[in-house]
Amino acid sequence: MVLLLETDPHRGLSDGEAVQRLERFGPNALPVAARSNLLLRMARQFHHPLIYVLLVAGVVTAGLQEYADSAVIFGVVVLNAVVGFIQESKAESALEGLRSMVRTRAKVVREGREHGVPSEDLVPGDLVMLESGDKVPADLRLVRVTELRVNESALTGESAPAHKDAVVLPEATPVADRRNMVYSGTLVTGGHGAGIAVATGAETELGEIHRLVGAAETLTTPLTAKLAWFSKVLTIAILGLAAVTFAVGLLRQQDAIETFTAAIALAVGAIPEGLPAAVTITLAIGVARMARRRAVIRRLPAVETLGSTTVICTDKTGTLTENQMTVQAIWTPDVMVEVTGTGYAPEGVLQNHDGDNVSLAANAALRWTLVAGVGCNDAAITHDDKRWNVVGDPTEGAMLVVAAKAGVNPERFAAGTPRVAAIPFSSERQYMATLHRDGDDHVVLAKGAVERMLELCSLQMGADGTLRPLDCSAVLCAADLLAARGLRVLATGVRSGVGPGELTEDSLRGSLAFTGLQAMLDPPRPAARSAVAACHAAGIAVKMITGDHVATATAIATNVGLLDADEPRPGDVLVGTDLAELAADEFPDAVDEAKLFARVSPEQKLRLVQALQARGQVVAMTGDGVNDAPALRQASVGVAMGRSGTEVAKDAADMVLTDDDFATIEAAVEEGRAVFDNLTKFITWTLPTNIGEGLVILAAIAFGSALPILPTQILWINMTTAIALGLMLAFEPKEAGIMTRPPRDPDQPLLTRGLVVRILLVSTLLVASAWWLFEWEVNRGASVEVARTAALNLFVVVEAFYLFSCRSLTRSAIRVGVFSNRWIVLGVAAQVIAQLAITYLPAMNDVFDTAPIGVPAWMRIFAVAAVVSLAVATDKMLRRVIPVLRR
Ligand code: ATP
Repeated sequence: MVLLLETDPHRGLSDGEAVQRLERFGPNALPVAARSNLLLRMARQFHHPLIYVLLVAGVVTAGLQEYADSAVIFGVVVLNAVVGFIQESKAESALEGLRSMVRTRAKVVREGREHGVPSEDLVPGDLVMLESGDKVPADLRLVRVTELRVNESALTGESAPAHKDAVVLPEATPVADRRNMVYSGTLVTGGHGAGIAVATGAETELGEIHRLVGAAETLTTPLTAKLAWFSKVLTIAILGLAAVTFAVGLLRQQDAIETFTAAIALAVGAIPEGLPAAVTITLAIGVARMARRRAVIRRLPAVETLGSTTVICTDKTGTLTENQMTVQAIWTPDVMVEVTGTGYAPEGVLQNHDGDNVSLAANAALRWTLVAGVGCNDAAITHDDKRWNVVGDPTEGAMLVVAAKAGVNPERFAAGTPRVAAIPFSSERQYMATLHRDGDDHVVLAKGAVERMLELCSLQMGADGTLRPLDCSAVLCAADLLAARGLRVLATGVRSGVGPGELTEDSLRGSLAFTGLQAMLDPPRPAARSAVAACHAAGIAVKMITGDHVATATAIATNVGLLDADEPRPGDVLVGTDLAELAADEFPDAVDEAKLFARVSPEQKLRLVQALQARGQVVAMTGDGVNDAPALRQASVGVAMGRSGTEVAKDAADMVLTDDDFATIEAAVEEGRAVFDNLTKFITWTLPTNIGEGLVILAAIAFGSALPILPTQILWINMTTAIALGLMLAFEPKEAGIMTRPPRDPDQPLLTRGLVVRILLVSTLLVASAWWLFEWEVNRGASVEVARTAALNLFVVVEAFYLFSCRSLTRSAIRVGVFSNRWIVLGVAAQVIAQLAITYLPAMNDVFDTAPIGVPAWMRIFAVAAVVSLAVATDKMLRRVIPVLRR
């Protein structure tokens, strides 16, 4: 399709045109391919070895004119598919819901003004602005670029950044060489630019690839893969065993139909068919719970890893603190000024230590400190709904507010001294500088971290405006004093009377006059202290990694309980320069010891993660900038900030915090532990039934006696209990004390030795009691149907009792409380109705070959269930009191 974009390369589309085009071209989103083909998804549910066995069994039983059995088998096949289908859909929609939680926003110019819009609202012809850290929202033909570099690995697999240009290229240029194009889904790693959207949604190159591969979201994690493999191997082994059984039976000249039935019973009973689906649904429920607590999982394996996290490395600004900056003090070489008022409202005054208001006219250094804060600034303060807000960097917002309190007007400054060039702030550079035209001259303004600014200054300004040689130590001393109050300190510098020329980092060095320090408060988040304490109680070390000054960082770290104010240890705090000097062999130990890393550059973060991992730690690491991406990728769980983070960081992360709050990481770890618990509980609950059923059948075959339980009955048990009982464990609330035990060793198998013993104990009790009950009923003269019904009910009742035992793997069922998970109570009620129906309804009796049983039989069944519960309770108690048994 040839499309004339009809766009003004400077003013963009009109709002009306954008609305019309959105209607015409549809939203800029990829179609959800995998969900569309319902039939195919349903058909996939039948692709399972067990289903094949059942289908063969169904056909054979129909051939033998056992129509009731055949109907049951086919019924189970269909029911199983429907349940699998529903579970899979639920899990997938849980994951899909997450995608919409981390919305990408795009910056477009429409009618000459720049707006932030959801990237779905982009239309062909839109003029899109790009800067470092953005995800390219559509396929764009570039019209302007400055040093634009793009990581196109999402499309080409090439991870080295591609340099882009706005040149005109011949029409035949292959896609890979089109330097004047950027493609949807790729990441801007440096520079900035503007481009016009030429393709959106499915029409983009990414849309093309998406269409080719179907891009179905997989629900696999290392654990699910391992379990799926385990069930597959087990299935094959059991099918083999069933085939051998059948063959041996025939050789022994036993009745072919009976032997066939026994082999089928063995297969359906012993194969844990519900396991992979249950694991997936438990993971999906965990993901949904995390999302409710504002932690959005981007890569499913992170759910598992979170539960075994041993170290959390966190940023300071915005994660442990509110990122709500207010300048509280200004220091110039002649005076210390305190500023009143909080937040972004420009209400407050500047006072000297006698409480008198200070006048800017009397102090040139103070005036220039405020002017530098205003001119060298990309933020804006807005007022709406009676609230003052900052658009842009809060550090810069605070500087605008303090200037307004002192009567310095940003618009008037910008009109009189327009900006002509800038060196933007970056975490590596730690300062920002701007060049302004001032009449016939130019003036340079700069602001940044104190140490960096001192490298740029050789002079300092006095109150009368005269310049003197810089007194470095006085500045550093004042900065330390302010930082020790927990304030973030920025220095400012100026140089007037500059010629036009270029603004470069080299030309700045040693050329500025220092004017003063602005010190701002960024209060710790209210929940940070308790979240740090919770992590410590859970055996998780918390380390702060910040670009800020060591004294500011120390004050905040002490405030949130990360550093012990009473007992500081020498190795607790490391500064970026210390790290650079550490020898390779000292590095891991020193990093493992330290709790606070200050003035750290993003590149050093990667080394920190690697060092911690070399010490066997499972590291969760936060990040927000482009340069944090390698560390986020390397970390066991990379955590990006949803609000302040760049798209590049989000793309590299395993989890995104929608509220940027440290407490959310702690919440996610807690949920991660709960997911693991619930998985273990489900497996511990389900395996004894499979083992029990399998062994009962094997024993019957080995002794050549009647089957205590028929294949259709086994199908009944497995289907009904998996749905009504087992699935309810996925909704199990977190256990008390989940955050007071140490992190799980990631290498530890899912089932500890103790749990394997418990599973074997319950399996043995099940086999023995089912066998005993069946024999008892037969010996006292009951019909084989009655004996089988008793055995069937025994399995179900024991499973229901054991379900309550499995709600906690360590605490006794009574302490957990019977009614604390209402899903389980509902499930048990449903199961009771089902059991009464299969035992007493004549129609069900006909279909399942069951028969009504009397009160004494029920009493024996409940006695057995009580014995099993008691045995499990004793096992738990022994493990609680004898530590060696706990492993
Ligand atoms: P973290 O979020 O990791 O705790 P941070 O936000 O404090 O770190 P950076 O944003 O990298 O770290 O800032 C490092 C230093 O750069 C700050 O201590 C400050 O002195 C200075 N700085 C921060 N923002 C600006 C800015 N907009 N302009 C100039 N200098 C800045």
